Amino acid sequence: MFNENNMCNNKLKLEVMDKHDNHNNHEELFNQEWAKSQENTIVQALKAGEKIEEKLFELPGFQKAFDHELTCLECSDGRICSGPKIALAGQGILLGLEDLAILEKAIKDKGLTITGHENCGAAGIAHPGEHSDYHGYEYTKELASSTGNTYREVHHDEFKCAVHNERALVLEGTGRFDVANLEGFPGQFISSASHFGLSAEYQKTEAKALINIALGSHSFGERFDEENPFYLIVSAKDAEQLEVTTKLAEEVAAEFDGRVKVSSFIAPKEVI
Ligand SMILES: [Zn+2]
Repeated sequence: MFNENNMCNNKLKLEVMDKHDNHNNHEELFNQEWAKSQENTIVQALKAGEKIEEKLFELPGFQKAFDHELTCLECSDGRICSGPKIALAGQGILLGLEDLAILEKAIKDKGLTITGHENCGAAGIAHPGEHSDYHGYEYTKELASSTGNTYREVHHDEFKCAVHNERALVLEGTGRFDVANLEGFPGQFISSASHFGLSAEYQKTEAKALINIALGSHSFGERFDEENPFYLIVSAKDAEQLEVTTKLAEEVAAEFDGRVKVSSFIAPKEVI
């Protein structure tokens, strides 16, 4: 992962230096990132219809990805990774009041770093217009303050990649899977909504919002089709959660004309 990310970071630096940055530069970067993701063993296994569980256990860091605490609450956005992260779109900016109360209770005084970030798609949905990032930061500051956690802002110079390169959305139900730092895993959105026990309605709304970002023009977009679908990957803590979340994911995927598919696995047991 680190080599791949460094490659992307170097390109990012070049882009930041280029004052004449334009759409063509991004298009080239999208093509490079897409080509790289097509070589990914997990993506290839998913496309071949293989069991993702076996391929994940073959990744050297897979079980270790469950053996440490996740200390950041960040946006689902795959460009954002300040550390081991649990995630919700816009750190929960799309939550209704009941679900927000569930989140606040779950993260109260947990010593988390909660980050807001530049160019947040979820903040743009919650607060359309040129000041969406400002509203995203204000929401996140308030969430960190009201729950006794720490606030930090992430700007584009810290992005893991300059462009959205997500091939999947991980519906992460264990609250223990440091997938954002797992070498060999494809670019991914993360949602910890099932881990927090948020409503099925919210889980679906959030998944659709993130899929729409992935299938849209600011991401891999039209590259996703029936042959190369976007994946909803269910990371479940047990068989019951696997069944419930997979059903929910299938209902969401059914709305995207074959361009979204579901794959599920049960996470390794607690690693001490
Ligand atoms: Zn965001």
